[in-house]
Amino acid sequence: MAKEQLPVLVVGAGPVGCFIAYRLGKAGIPVQIFEKESALPYTPRAVGYYGATQVVFQETGLYDLVRAEGFMTAGLCWRTLPIDDGKGGKRLGDLLAAQPLSDPSDPVKACPSGLLNLRQSELTKLVLEEALKTGNVKIQFNSELSSIQQGDDKVTIDFENKDLPAVTGSYLVGADGGRSKTRKLIGTPCLGHTWPERLISTDVILGNYVDPVWHTCYIIGTQNYTIMTPLTDPIVGEKSLWRCTVAIPPEDQRSDEELLQEEVIQGLYEEVVSGPRPLPAEIKAKAVYRIHQRLVPTMRKGRCVLAGDAAHMNNPYGAMGLNTGLLDGDALAEALIMVLNEGRSNKILTSYSDARRRVFRYFVDPTTTANKLRLHLASETAAEDDDYLRSLQNPTAEEMEKGAKPYFETWRTDMRAVAKDAGL
Ligand SMILES: Cc1cc2nc3c(=O)[nH]c(=O)nc-3n(C[C@H](O)[C@H](O)[C@H](O)COP(=O)(O)OP(=O)(O)OC[C@H]3O[C@@H](n4cnc5c(N)ncnc54)[C@H](O)[C@@H]3O)c2cc1C
Repeated sequence: MAKEQLPVLVVGAGPVGCFIAYRLGKAGIPVQIFEKESALPYTPRAVGYYGATQVVFQETGLYDLVRAEGFMTAGLCWRTLPIDDGKGGKRLGDLLAAQPLSDPSDPVKACPSGLLNLRQSELTKLVLEEALKTGNVKIQFNSELSSIQQGDDKVTIDFENKDLPAVTGSYLVGADGGRSKTRKLIGTPCLGHTWPERLISTDVILGNYVDPVWHTCYIIGTQNYTIMTPLTDPIVGEKSLWRCTVAIPPEDQRSDEELLQEEVIQGLYEEVVSGPRPLPAEIKAKAVYRIHQRLVPTMRKGRCVLAGDAAHMNNPYGAMGLNTGLLDGDALAEALIMVLNEGRSNKILTSYSDARRRVFRYFVDPTTTANKLRLHLASETAAEDDDYLRSLQNPTAEEMEKGAKPYFETWRTDMRAVAKDAGL
């Protein structure tokens, strides 16, 4: 009788873990996901998927599903703080620059274009459902990883709940987020720095009073610099759900609990959200975050491999964290398919680590750092001072294409090409 194939163990049912499980399940590889929570968690976090991720969704059969549940925005913009409208309310701040990701007058917006918006929690639910449909993926909730033992040809894990039996797999994928236990257990530090600011992120129902054209908006020229992004299609004249993420300067000594008080958040909206006053704003979810620029020295230790926030963290300005994690997932799934289904050397996993670390170090880390620091500028002179905002003033098609190139060519890793170059 043929020996049964050991499953790949995925720790963490976040979007990255579920996506890897989906890819492997589709390739006929058995997978077991272990999630410490009792159900998929909801937190106000990622929402927008760029072109490279859209292409991955399309190639893997997810694009139409994500597109049907989500909606497309045409691009990003930078504005000053909202301005008094002379009627007791505030209008949108002045437009400093806009970055089209697709033609705003194009109603079709085929893949890849725009910023495909769908809340991280909805994406994860959708991907997990598709993973389970492959028939090769199982998920176990209430299963918090506590230890890992690696052998030559297998890896065994235990759980905090000692009533749960140990489980053995062929490889372990640590997709357990920024505080990854996998990362700690395999002895890998996450090196870099933590920014001194905290962020308050809220999901809030707001009225849509005008068409902002560029829905995702960075507000600069204040210590409370902000990202406003729609979570559902913002139809003018109707109310809809928005994500409002506001920076809290380092000198603000209030505790997280104090910052999460309704009146504190409403006070911040007064400064950064446009609309009539008093502002009708119904808060649906809220969280305080610390933000980091950090990367592990390796994403592979033996039969354990890291992906997503477990391996690297960046600030959310530019919406690159989950996109990078999903592109890790795309590369790692392809690497594991080569190893497990095609019998190729597992040194490919080291090549995965090297390639994805390079993407973070030379593209994601500097780009997100620049995205954040740009918001510290004075709004009066930012459009002139900052080379990036200046480049967006009257760009030619050629300049736009050049700017978009790394978002496609650098961000995603073609693991088959990487393996070939490495002679594996
Ligand atoms: C305010 C904010 C806005 C953001 N916006 C964007 C955006 O628009 N676009 C973008 O690309 N990125 C964005 N990000 C970043 C994005 O949210 C993260 O990059 C993303 O969540 C990483 O996914 P992940 O699956 O790697 O980890 P996570 O989403 O953290 O999932 C990890 C999972 O592992 C589980 N887990 C943890 N420990 C264990 C354990 N020991 N055992 C078992 N399970 C465990 C957790 O419960 C969780 O379900 C944003 C982040 C923030 C804070």
